[in-house]
Amino acid sequence: MTGNSCIVLSDDYKGYELEYFCVPRHYEDSLECVLIPSGLIQDRIERLARDVAADLGREPFAALCVLKGGYKFLADLLEKIKQCYRFSSENSVPFSVDFIRLQSYKDDHSTGDVKVLGVDGLSFLQNKNVLVVEDIIDTGKTMKVLLEILEKQKPKSVKVASLFVKRTSSSSGLRPDYVGFEIPDRFIVGYALDYNV
Ligand code: 5GP
Repeated sequence: MTGNSCIVLSDDYKGYELEYFCVPRHYEDSLECVLIPSGLIQDRIERLARDVAADLGREPFAALCVLKGGYKFLADLLEKIKQCYRFSSENSVPFSVDFIRLQSYKDDHSTGDVKVLGVDGLSFLQNKNVLVVEDIIDTGKTMKVLLEILEKQKPKSVKVASLFVKRTSSSSGLRPDYVGFEIPDRFIVGYALDYNV
């Protein structure tokens, strides 16, 4: 199955108590719980990688990572996509990796402002299969802006992979093609997701 269904954490999901995990000292006073242990994140990414590889088949693709939060997801996803090709065929599929930075956040709430950084040179995406890799979709405004920019480059196809999607009343309705976890409307950190930077 390669639809965009995912693991859903319900609103009353409590996560795991901090005392059972090694929590970075700088987070000690601000965390409520461990929402998703890293092993589960890795296992889920393995399956997302399989879905991406199945959909792309033998087609080359251009991975476009949304910084800053997306870099760890990108690295783990690509590694696992490569493993899929290694196991399933004699040759690997070529892909490129590029980075874009979009800022839409101040403190822990969306400002509605989306600042696009570093998008001058995206014309190379013309006629390419683009895989956008994002850490989290909240309202979806950031991703909408990026998708509009990408459409102007006339790519062959565009798919979006987001490790997390937030269940929020202010959602624009945008649903990525590949989603790791749907989470309640809470602010999360860790796994390279940044805070106010
Ligand atoms: P959106 O435009 O979808 O409202 O916001 C998306 C961006 O906001 C993400 O790429 C991420 O940088 C940031 N963001 C949204 N929710 C969270 C969250 O719970 N934790 C962190 N660290 N960043 C978030």
